[in-house]
Amino acid sequence: MKKVVLITGASSGIGKSIGDFLINQNFTVYGTSRNPSNYKNSNFSLLQLDVNDIDSINKSIAIIIKKEGRIDVLINNAGKGITGPLEETPIIEIKKTFDTNFFGVMQVCNAVLPKMRKQKSGLIINISSIAGDMGLPYRGIYSASKAALSIYTETLRLETKQFNINVIDVAPGDFATNIAAGRFHSPLLKNSAYKKHYSRVLEQIDSEVDGGLQPIIMAKSIAKIINKTSPKPKYRIGSLLQKAAYKIKFLLPDTIFEKIMIKQYEL
Ligand code: NDP
Repeated sequence: MKKVVLITGASSGIGKSIGDFLINQNFTVYGTSRNPSNYKNSNFSLLQLDVNDIDSINKSIAIIIKKEGRIDVLINNAGKGITGPLEETPIIEIKKTFDTNFFGVMQVCNAVLPKMRKQKSGLIINISSIAGDMGLPYRGIYSASKAALSIYTETLRLETKQFNINVIDVAPGDFATNIAAGRFHSPLLKNSAYKKHYSRVLEQIDSEVDGGLQPIIMAKSIAKIINKTSPKPKYRIGSLLQKAAYKIKFLLPDTIFEKIMIKQYEL
């Protein structure tokens, strides 16, 4: 039987790549977009879903269940970026980021879990970020939203094991997608004390994403994870250095790790 997969945020980047890959691997794929009519050439069904709109979530899930009778795999991929000095980032934009990257994922999980509990099986993959392993300068809100998501994922995994539901955290490093273009960049205050550092760090992080890995690498890794009988609780997918960063942070004294960050970002 073909596994039924739901991928949020599948109109571009990593989500689209996962959908395109899985549809050719004998999965039944449903992706989502806030505006599916903009993506008429999608290789798989795109349903209208905004993770901040519970009605759109429930509607999409109802459509899939009516048609397929089950949801085997949920990939919470929808997410957004934000940059800016913490002191000057508008609280409304901080809340919007958490709404999408954290509360939105919870809403989708909560909407799918009753069905997975009923069918006594399911796999949930939450796409966090290696940026959630540490507080990155001028990306602090993004890091915090993804760190919160990783902790949520760890707990959800423990609580749903009893129902034969597997919850996995997949943290990408830098991938060349539209994420940088869609980011909210905090406008600096006039005479901002952060201007020099922020402008330089922004250039650096944009070039890191532009020079990032191709999303197909994520797609292949996700397919492997879905096909494993005993997947690990967490996977980091990225360059060797990005994957090792959390281990380096754990092993080194905090002061030394901080010195490395200061040097890396010339702070
Ligand atoms: P893209 O900007 O290319 O894709 C983001 C997707 O999320 C789009 O399909 C968009 O769909 C969807 N989306 C955005 N906001 C919402 C919302 N409120 N409700 C529903 N869907 C939404 O970025 P990526 O492919 O790079 O990002 C995918 C995931 O990977 C994100 O969670 C991101 O944080 C994470 N990630 C990415 C990294 C990278 O370097 N690219 C690194 C680490 C993590 P639409 O606009 O059509 O609704």
